[in-house]
Amino acid sequence: DDLVLGIDVGGTSTKVGVFTEGGVLLSRHAFASVPVRADGSYAKLSEGYGAMLSRVGIDANRIVSIGLAVPGTVAAEDSLRLCPNIDLDLRAYKSFLHAEFGRATVCVLNDADAAVLGDMWRGSAGERGVKTFALLTLGTGVGAGIVVNGKLVSGNNGAVGEIGHLCVDPGSDLVCGCGRAGCLEQFASAGALVRMAGEYSSDGQGGYADAKEVFVAADAGDKAAKAAIERFADRLAFGLSQIACLLDPELFVIGGGLSVSADSFIDIVRERYKRYALDVCRSTPIVASALGNDCGMYGAAYRAIKKLGPAG
Ligand code: BGC
Ligand code: ZN
Repeated sequence: DDLVLGIDVGGTSTKVGVFTEGGVLLSRHAFASVPVRADGSYAKLSEGYGAMLSRVGIDANRIVSIGLAVPGTVAAEDSLRLCPNIDLDLRAYKSFLHAEFGRATVCVLNDADAAVLGDMWRGSAGERGVKTFALLTLGTGVGAGIVVNGKLVSGNNGAVGEIGHLCVDPGSDLVCGCGRAGCLEQFASAGALVRMAGEYSSDGQGGYADAKEVFVAADAGDKAAKAAIERFADRLAFGLSQIACLLDPELFVIGGGLSVSADSFIDIVRERYKRYALDVCRSTPIVASALGNDCGMYGAAYRAIKKLGPAG
């Protein structure tokens, strides 16, 4: 039977789901994301996808449609405008996929847009029948997918939901990958959490290898790790309160790699959100996605499946 791939290229890892055309997930895989440049050296990519295919034991020719979610602003099918956390040439990635999966059509979308579609399809918003909501992906980068009345909104430049670059600290001199300062991404991403835990530690360095180590240390009572999580949650909540003024959503969903540790920070986010939000928006629920870090992969597959449908 024909199959579909949902690919979520993150700044750090790439998640791939093999789905039936009916949307049943057959298997999922993850491998390290690699820069993809226009010079067309695909060795590392080939390794990742090759290992995946041999593990599932399927022929590349069974794949008929691919959804490719990327961590940057997708202005048009071939144009990736702002992609601060990984070097990705979209044309090169697509031509790799075309060479590897000759039969498949490839459609490209922003990773947070994919995540919001995935969550609406199979996750928390879907379960609740919510129609207007925002999903924030917290990982190497910070982004959001915005759905209004059941429809994904993308805007004039495809930049709707670029909340990683919402300024949440105007006095800050922390320069972001977008070239500006004080962006939410400098407080609510995995790297930011690690940086802040280091800054708060007694020697000013900390030595936390990754976000997971910060969460584990906080659980064990580490003061610097706790302070970093508080700052992270506080700025995230502030960002949500700003989004609420524009969108007034029914629900905020948290996805992305850090959402699997949501228990360590979501209560602080809820409490601070109440403090910052406009009075009428104060009771908006904030939940971690039921799909965890798989939202983007599901959403990419959803797009690919829709592409096969009558409306294309
Ligand atoms: C990018 C977004 C992306 C987000 C999450 C941000 O830095 O600008 O386009 O959705 O990271 O990957
Ligand atoms: Zn920025």
